[in-house]
Amino acid sequence: MSLVELKQVTKDYRMGEISVQALKDIEIDIDKQSFVSFVGPSGSGKTTLLNLIGCLDKPSSGEVFVNGTAVNTLSNKEAAQFRGQYLGFIFQNFNLLPVLTTYENVEYPLIMVQNIKANERKKRIMHYLDAVGIADQKDKYPSQLSGGQKQRVAVARALVTDPKLVLADEPTANLDHDSAFKIIELMRQMKRDFKTAFIFSTHDPKIVKEAEIIYTLEDGKIVGKKIGAS
Ligand code: ADP
Ligand code: MG
Repeated sequence: MSLVELKQVTKDYRMGEISVQALKDIEIDIDKQSFVSFVGPSGSGKTTLLNLIGCLDKPSSGEVFVNGTAVNTLSNKEAAQFRGQYLGFIFQNFNLLPVLTTYENVEYPLIMVQNIKANERKKRIMHYLDAVGIADQKDKYPSQLSGGQKQRVAVARALVTDPKLVLADEPTANLDHDSAFKIIELMRQMKRDFKTAFIFSTHDPKIVKEAEIIYTLEDGKIVGKKIGAS
């Protein structure tokens, strides 16, 4: 079974009289444990596509299956439950909560979306903090962490709910070259260790080569699929 399957997906945004066709006839099939990148210039539809897969928005037509569920048919409440159970997100600016420590930032999704007992919660949090190499920073606040450390917290937070799939929308966009490669490498390592699939978007051609499968978007269409170097 595929992990992600899109069939004849289109997405139109309507603004008054004007309608923008953000996605046109998208067909995608992504296996479990994949490491996939969507690449394309700004405005090509990457965020729209990730939002559909992430059950944050619905297509105008077509079907979106994630882990076998037709997520385009879910109610908002069901979609929220589905996200909490199967998906993790890494945001462009990492979106750590400044008033929470490293530990608490990673704990947050466990409290919000999954009903996990305190003992088990602590075990899991420490496990992932260890895995990304920041267990020693667990009591620090985001303002006391370097950029690279914040990335690691964001990755641990995305993984702590044990998702099948992590979605990252331009996670390297605001990073220097070195940090950008490091976060891709960290994601790849987490994919290896935890068998999680990752889909990230980027418009940086140097970063995209790091993916195993690369879909190129142009003007709302998929114009290429390539196997990457790794
Ligand atoms: P990317 O992430 O590749 O930059 P997007 O998915 O954000 O591309 O945008 C694809 C197209 O859809 C663009 O033409 C953009 O202007 C349009 N678009 C995106 N979001 C909205 C929205 N909420 N309302 C109207 N148009 C939108
Ligand atoms: Mg975008």
